[in-house]
Amino acid sequence: MKSKRLLGLLLLPAAASLCLAGCGGSSETAAREYSKGIFAMGTYMELTAYGEQAESVLDEAENRIREWEALWSTTDEDSEIYAANHSQGRTVPLSSETEELLQFALKMARQTGGALDPTIYPLVNAWGFISQEYRVPSQREIGELLALTGYEKVKVENHGVTLPEGMQLDLGAVGKGYAGELLADYFKEEGISSALLNIGGNIQMVGSRPDGTKWRIGIRNPFGEGSFGVLESEDTAVVTSGGYERYFTDEDGTVYWHILDPDTGRPAQSGLASATIIADSGRMADALSTSIFVMGLEEGSEYWKNHGEFDMLLVTQDGEIYLTEGIEDSFTLEDAFSDREMHVIRK
Ligand code: ADP
Ligand code: MG
Repeated sequence: MKSKRLLGLLLLPAAASLCLAGCGGSSETAAREYSKGIFAMGTYMELTAYGEQAESVLDEAENRIREWEALWSTTDEDSEIYAANHSQGRTVPLSSETEELLQFALKMARQTGGALDPTIYPLVNAWGFISQEYRVPSQREIGELLALTGYEKVKVENHGVTLPEGMQLDLGAVGKGYAGELLADYFKEEGISSALLNIGGNIQMVGSRPDGTKWRIGIRNPFGEGSFGVLESEDTAVVTSGGYERYFTDEDGTVYWHILDPDTGRPAQSGLASATIIADSGRMADALSTSIFVMGLEEGSEYWKNHGEFDMLLVTQDGEIYLTEGIEDSFTLEDAFSDREMHVIRK
């Protein structure tokens, strides 16, 4: 079996340069650039910020990321999520960050009709996406594990969470976007007006580029290397969920990926190869990238029409590209894809 994990979004060289230790900008007049590479939350992150305080702000950002990882990890025995997942029906106290993230995930679960379900963990585990010992569970096993899921059964009150016995939480579909959003708020409080946070392919922008122009974000080609187009934006989050991010292939060549349909307990087969969400809120973008990937083009378009407050760019398994009207003028196909027709979704 073969497995692969790639960043969902690629930054164009113009957007940021790789610089593992903190490093300064090249010219005296330009804002100083600092970058930091971090491996956390099971993924590679690259944070770039501009300005005098950028270096200390990036150091503090790393501290916070490590603290959140220690709270939300499903495998670290000291994490709050681990404690909840092994609580056998007892109430487990939550920090304010975890409580807010869990409340948000539950709200999005309700709003998406369960396309997002933070209680899907027993299935994610059964398919081997945690241990990377991939396997196809039997229909019977899937049925038994599905009986343990259901976001409606999670109780959050008095700063604690109570789960029915056997239920397990997974905030993996929203945690990185929430972290990006919290960091962007922190950077702005510290007076940083330009930063680009690549949190394992979740892009969180702070303001615009130091020269005032928009960031240029490459959107990953779900069928191969590189990006198929570029989105120009500022002060938003751009998050992609795709089947190519983490998957395995069985002996017959069937591909199984890490985003599951909570209705079936199997990899979501919605006809989409990737779903990219552009939103002011990083947590919203992350929650919706996973949800819309599960919903597919039709249901996802309906959701967008009813909820607005975000834009999206969908690539179908057939290679067709759909984008919402709000980003019609800010997305450009790469030359190699310029013959593709883009379908605009309008309200
Ligand atoms: P990634 O974390 O790879 O960038 P996502 O944000 O789409 O991508 O999150 C996928 C992760 O969320 C999976 O690895 C799994 O842990 C969890 N997950 C899978 N399917 C769902 C779902 N329908 N609802 C909530 N979480 C899910
Ligand atoms: Mg997500």
